[in-house]
Amino acid sequence: MNGNPTIDPSESRLLDGARDPSKSRRAAADPQRPGEHCRAPAGAWVPFIDREKCEGKKECVDVCPYSVFELGTLTDGEFSSLSFVGQMKARRHDRKTARTPKAAACRACGLCVVACPEDAITLRREPSP
Ligand code: SF4
Ligand code: SF4
Repeated sequence: MNGNPTIDPSESRLLDGARDPSKSRRAAADPQRPGEHCRAPAGAWVPFIDREKCEGKKECVDVCPYSVFELGTLTDGEFSSLSFVGQMKARRHDRKTARTPKAAACRACGLCVVACPEDAITLRREPSP
């Protein structure tokens, strides 16, 4: 792909609604952003978080224009279902992990996918097969 994708003016205004608009704009300009479904009907796509990878770094919380994410803590059940390496990592970051309490508001902009430093987020079509 050549250069950065254009940010539509309406999308650009939307980015101001993110908790950290400057991070959000950087993510919007990332050529790897999976934005082909951007502005899908709310909840048609939802973010899926790989708990083995998530380190609670909160970039998703900062960039999402629809406040889909919040930071939480792994339950004992989630923690015990992780691999040995996943548990080691989780201990290092106090079991912090991203939650998606407002997943139904997701518009598939893809900002969280490219902002996550751990590649922990994928977008999935709802309802999942
Ligand atoms: S999903 Fe990625 S960006 Fe979000 S808290 Fe986890 S590591 Fe951080
Ligand atoms: S893809 Fe969905 S969850 Fe991710 S930043 Fe965009 S609206 Fe938020």
